[in-house]
Amino acid sequence: MIYADHAATSPILPCAQKAMMECMKYGANPSSQHAMGVWAKEKLEKARETVANCINASPEEIIFTSGATESNNLAAHAAKKFWIDKMFVSSYEHQSMEKAARILSFENKMPFYQLPCREINKPHLLKKNLHNSFVSINMVDSITGCISDVQAFSNFFCDMEESIIHTDATQAIGHINIDVEKLNIDMMTFSSHKLGGPLGVGVLYVRKGIDIEPLIYGGNQENGLRSGTENVPAIVGFAAAMQERCNNIDKNRKKIKRLHSIFTNSLKEAKPVVQNDYITKRHATPHIIPVFVPNIENDALVSILSDKYGICISAGSACDSNTKHKKHAYPLIEEFGFHPEDIRNIIRVSFSPENTPQEALQIAKAINEITDSF
Ligand code: PMP
Repeated sequence: MIYADHAATSPILPCAQKAMMECMKYGANPSSQHAMGVWAKEKLEKARETVANCINASPEEIIFTSGATESNNLAAHAAKKFWIDKMFVSSYEHQSMEKAARILSFENKMPFYQLPCREINKPHLLKKNLHNSFVSINMVDSITGCISDVQAFSNFFCDMEESIIHTDATQAIGHINIDVEKLNIDMMTFSSHKLGGPLGVGVLYVRKGIDIEPLIYGGNQENGLRSGTENVPAIVGFAAAMQERCNNIDKNRKKIKRLHSIFTNSLKEAKPVVQNDYITKRHATPHIIPVFVPNIENDALVSILSDKYGICISAGSACDSNTKHKKHAYPLIEEFGFHPEDIRNIIRVSFSPENTPQEALQIAKAINEITDSF
């Protein structure tokens, strides 16, 4: 089996497994007062510190959640603040932010705007007044791998004292160096399972001084912002994976760039959606590779690759496969000259540093064989 669907989820790294197994030997509630509880609390706080250090945050700014979906929903609820009067989200937001923001803006009778990529990356083009706004920007698009210049955006609008800026770094974390101080944002979402940690755990970074309301009420865990007993083994595994990935970003990027070149240079009929210079100029990450395959629908191609070749890739975002009216708009493919309908012919290959050059070549060869036979 060849697994190249790391943007959907990435298998647990050995260091995360090891940390979790050690932690699972003893079960204790980190809120308990006895010695075992204190032990669990120490593990939890050590993990929080590790995660915070990886993004240059303080441990108090890290709220553990059940994943990026919950973090995005929690972040969007900050728009309920009485002084927020409109919501802006990038037009390539994950559904967990887009839907939450739409619903909140409807309930609170606020205008809702979607910002195109070119306006986010060239904020001087943006004619809209962003004061008193909730703004969310997806840092790396999960279909094209395109990177938003969140830092340039937030610096351009740094005088927006009465606005809240959130970024979804779920597809960026572990692949791009992230420093929340430099980014100058108020909140940031990310998830464990995209970087080799376990499923079911995520983070919302909330900058000190930003006052948000919880979505889940109960025993006041996570500073009262996310009640419910913390999943300590999962959080410990998450921290181990994050440390491993964040310590090796440059080395891993080189490896993945090589996989990207081998794969894209070996394709015949199929062609990458995102041009190489985008990657060289760091406007897109090399680990997410959308590929246009003419004459064959992506769902069929994904099934053939899996059934006949034992290759796991995807037809767009895994989350969309649960949507009844599949394939919501992917505005970013149009930026590369593709028609909205072309999304049916676009597959997504996504690598991790654990993939090998042989695997990259085998995937390209399999795609060539299939396209040759059509
Ligand atoms: N945001 C982005 C950009 C994502 O790619 C995903 C996962 N596809 C999510 C949020 C949701 O993450 P989770 O599975 O942790 O809820």
